[in-house]
Amino acid sequence: MIHPFPKSHILAASAVGIAITFILILSPSGNVNATRTSIPIELNSQQPSLLDEIKSNQIAKPLPSNLTNQAASNNAIPKLTENWQTITVKNGHSLSTIFALAGLNDKVMYSVLGNKKQNKSLSQIFPGEQISFLENTNDELTKVKLTRSPLESIVYTKTKNGSFKSKKVTRKPEIQIAYSEGEITSSLFLAGQSAGLSQKQIMELANIFGWDIDFILDIRSGDKFNLIYEELYLDGEKYKNGKILAAKFSNQDRELEAVLYRAKDGTSNYFTPKGNSMRKAFIRTPVDFARISSHFNLRRKHPVLHKIRAHKGTDYAASRGTPIKATGDGKVIHVGRKGGYGKAVIIQHGQKFTTLYAHMSKYARGVRTGKRIKQGQIIGYIGSTGLASGPHLHYEFRVNGVHKNSLKVKLPHAKPIPKKQLADFKLQTHLYLAQLSTFSKSYQLAANQKL
Ligand SMILES: [Zn+2]
Repeated sequence: MIHPFPKSHILAASAVGIAITFILILSPSGNVNATRTSIPIELNSQQPSLLDEIKSNQIAKPLPSNLTNQAASNNAIPKLTENWQTITVKNGHSLSTIFALAGLNDKVMYSVLGNKKQNKSLSQIFPGEQISFLENTNDELTKVKLTRSPLESIVYTKTKNGSFKSKKVTRKPEIQIAYSEGEITSSLFLAGQSAGLSQKQIMELANIFGWDIDFILDIRSGDKFNLIYEELYLDGEKYKNGKILAAKFSNQDRELEAVLYRAKDGTSNYFTPKGNSMRKAFIRTPVDFARISSHFNLRRKHPVLHKIRAHKGTDYAASRGTPIKATGDGKVIHVGRKGGYGKAVIIQHGQKFTTLYAHMSKYARGVRTGKRIKQGQIIGYIGSTGLASGPHLHYEFRVNGVHKNSLKVKLPHAKPIPKKQLADFKLQTHLYLAQLSTFSKSYQLAANQKL
């Protein structure tokens, strides 16, 4: 059973701040969840609901200027005299259609676009965005505002000479930290939903632990997870979930912990509390002492078929019986004959990557579907089964199902935190881990009090 879920918050002074004082508010689950789950919307998803949700009753009505004008939103007294007309961009709408819907002709549209490069952003519009128009008392257009997201808009203002100049307005959301926990009865997905997580967050959680846990085969009823994550607010209203900051997963008798680290170079990745990468590395080459006999080439003449046929892998020629090594930690998802591949093994690495090893003479002992494989472990031996002109390994590397050149593909960073960065890493991640544990304890306390 999933516990009723008291979601709690603390206000963080800043995302990475060393704020020691924080306010912990525990609230009963029902109403909190209700208000929380109402806006599970992605910033970039271009869904019409994005802005509708926030400006629900403002569409096609005069907009209070505090919603359309950033300067005014910082002002305590909204200028209600401004009479904006707002149109939401729909599929198939052109800018001309939008202007027409606002009762404005193409001539007016071109006067806004002008010949300035920066005004061209107005012609690149996407469904879900909003365009607002403001006219003066003489029914002349004076301002146009393109609202791309709650965080980004562009205002085009008419100048004295009649042309329009644009100004980009960006806002920074306020970040709060939210806590969530769940217990699995059937699937991570259902447990995540009951815990109030969005679909995207559940996927993110699966991605973080995906190198260590197979979420289909390894999951048992009673497995538990908890996490803290960012929630982004604008004007006191949540509009989006941010990153997962720290998470814990109890899978059978294993306890796994991951924490986000934002490095100074702007990259962010998940690590164990000790600073090891949650993602595992790949080695570039699956066979020692071999030569590459054929490269990745989408227009190769096939040596057996004598036809142009994409070669979506790398061939390593070596004598029959040469051992083949798994290039990364993972799980075997296929062992057996597979058409032209002959005897083949496919390994899944995390959520995104698979590698395929073909034309084997035989499989290594113990290599079976569902079996966990370590990087460098021997999985089979070179042969010429299937469509092969001689003994060689045909090796494929796929990212999200798409074939990549294994010699050139960017492999995931999997290095531990360098010693020099370790102090910064600890400083940043200790706070997150401490918060995760504080929340977890408070949750238990609240759950016990409720009994
Ligand atoms: Zn090949």
